[in-house]
Amino acid sequence: MLKKNIFFAKVKYQKNVYFCKNNTGIMATKYIFVTGGVASSLGKGIIAASLARLLKARGYSVTNQKLDPYINIDPGTLNPYEHGECYVTEDGAETDLDLGHYERFTSVPTSQANNVTTGRIYKNVIEKERRGDFLGKTVQVIPHITNEIKERITALGNTGDYEFVITEIGGTVGDIESYPFIEAVRQLKWSLGRSCIVIHLTYIPYIAAAGELKTKPTQHSVKALQEQGVQPDIIVCRTEKPLTRSVREKIGLFCNIDGDCVIEDGDVASIYDVPICMRDEKLDLQVLRKLDVPVKKDLDLEKWEAFLYKLHNPEREVSVGLVGKYVQLQDAYKSITEAFIHAGAELRCKVKVSYINSEELTEENVAERLSGLTGILVAPGFGNRGIEGKILAVQYARENKIPFFGICLGMQCAVVEFARNVLGYKDAHSVEIAPTTTHPVIDIMEEQKSISNMGGTMRLGAYPCRLEAGTRSYDIYGNEMISERHRHRYEFNNAYLDDFKAAGMVPAGINPDSGLVEIVEIPSHPYFVGSQFHPEYKSTAMHPHPLFVAFVEAALKYKADA
Ligand code: GLN
Repeated sequence: MLKKNIFFAKVKYQKNVYFCKNNTGIMATKYIFVTGGVASSLGKGIIAASLARLLKARGYSVTNQKLDPYINIDPGTLNPYEHGECYVTEDGAETDLDLGHYERFTSVPTSQANNVTTGRIYKNVIEKERRGDFLGKTVQVIPHITNEIKERITALGNTGDYEFVITEIGGTVGDIESYPFIEAVRQLKWSLGRSCIVIHLTYIPYIAAAGELKTKPTQHSVKALQEQGVQPDIIVCRTEKPLTRSVREKIGLFCNIDGDCVIEDGDVASIYDVPICMRDEKLDLQVLRKLDVPVKKDLDLEKWEAFLYKLHNPEREVSVGLVGKYVQLQDAYKSITEAFIHAGAELRCKVKVSYINSEELTEENVAERLSGLTGILVAPGFGNRGIEGKILAVQYARENKIPFFGICLGMQCAVVEFARNVLGYKDAHSVEIAPTTTHPVIDIMEEQKSISNMGGTMRLGAYPCRLEAGTRSYDIYGNEMISERHRHRYEFNNAYLDDFKAAGMVPAGINPDSGLVEIVEIPSHPYFVGSQFHPEYKSTAMHPHPLFVAFVEAALKYKADA
C-alpha cells in the first residue's frame, strides 16, 4: 500500500516520470545520457554498450539509443567512408553503426526509435508545422525542436519495457550542431531529477616529455557542458596510462565530481573487455547510486567472461580475405569484422582478416593477392567500382575450392561469376551495373522499379526464409525457418533458376512469401555459400552467427587439409 502511494505521488508531482511495467511498480524509468568531450572517436558507443551490458547482468531491462546531430534523415545514403557502416535493424531502419555495438554487447534488438538524427527531428517538426499543429505560433529551436528531441528520448521509456534508457549524444560537446540535443538533456535533467544522469566521456592525454597525464582538456570540456547548463554526474576518462589518485582528485575538484565517479577507461586488447574494466571501476554501481536505484542482484557475467577467455586464448588461426572497395576504413565493414570475432571465439580460433581492395584485383594478380588465404568473403556494396575484382575473387575461390562466403552484393557477384564461367553467358551481369545485359541474372525487384527516392527505399529489415532440407545452410542453422535482415534493391532472377540448378548452383533458402532466392550454394564445392541477406547484423558476442561459425570452420578444415 505504501509502495502504491509512492507510485501515485510521483505520477502526480512529476509530470515527466514514466514507469516501467517490467519492474516492481515503483521505479521510474531512468535516463542516462552519454556525452563526449575533448576529441571524437573515444568510444562513447562502447561505454554506453558496456554500461548496458553491466546493468543487464544485474537483472535490469535496458535499451540504448543514439542521437546523431547531422542533417541526413538517416545514414542510409551516406558513403561508408563518412561514418562507417550503415547498420540495419529488425524493423528495417538504416542506422548508425553504434546500434550494432549495442546489439552485439547486449543482444537486445534495436529499432528505428533507437536512432534519431537532427534531420529526422526537423522533418517531423516541419511536417507538424505544415499540418497546422502549431497554428499561430512561431516555430523555434526552443521549445519545438527540443520538445521533439525529448519526446524521442522519453518515447523509449514510455514503452514500459525498459528500466534504463541509455542515450548517447553523437559528436563532441561544443559542436554547434549538438546544441539542441544538449539543451534537451538539460531540460530533462531538470524535470526528471534523480531519474536522470549524465556521463561525460573525455580524453586524458599523456605528455611524455613531462611524464604526466593532463586534466586540462577535460576541465575545458566539462566547462563547455556546464556553459550549456549541464553538470555531468560521472566522468569516464579515456587514457593510455592508469589514472593516479591525484589525477582523479583533480578532475573531481575542478569538475564537481565525486572522487569515485571519475572512472578510468584504459587501453584494452578488445572492445569486449570494456564491460569488465567498467565493472572493475564500479561504473554500474555509481550509476545505480546516483540514480537512487537499489542494487537488484550481483553481476552475472559468467558467460561474458567465458567468451572473453575463448577470445583471448585461441588455439588455432585462419586467415580470411575480405574483398571489398571500402578497405581504407575498417569501420565500413564493422559488423562483418565483429561477426568474425564472435565466430572465432566460439571456435577458439583467431580469425585474421586481410582487407583486399577489389579495385586492384586483376586476372594477372588475383592468384598472388589471394594466396595464403584459407577463406574468401566478398563483401556487400553498391555500384560498379571494383565489381570485376569481386567477380574475379569469386572465380578464384570457386575454382581453387577455397571456402567462399558472399554477402548481398558478394552473393550477387557469385551468381554473375557462375553464369559467365560455368553457364557460359559471357555478358551476364546484375542490371544495377549493366542495365542492358542480355543475361540479367541479378535483376531489379519488381516493387523497386517505380522507386526514384534513394533514402530508405530498399528492401530493408527482417524477412523470413525457408531453408531446403539437405542443403548445407539447413544443416548449419539446424532449422527450416529463419529470419534475416536485408538491405538491397536487386535479386536473383528466377528465370535462370533451372539453368543454375542443372549446372550445380542451388537455391538453399527461399522467401516463402515472394519466392525470392535468399541463399545460393554449390554443393560440389567444399564450402561455397552466398546470402542475399546480411547475417553479420545478427551476430552478437553471446550468439555468434551460425553462417560465420560454419565459414570459419570450413576455413579451419581447408587449412588442415592443405
Ligand atoms: N547493390 C546491391 C543491391 O542493391 C547489393 C546491396 C548490398 O550489398 N547491400 O541489391
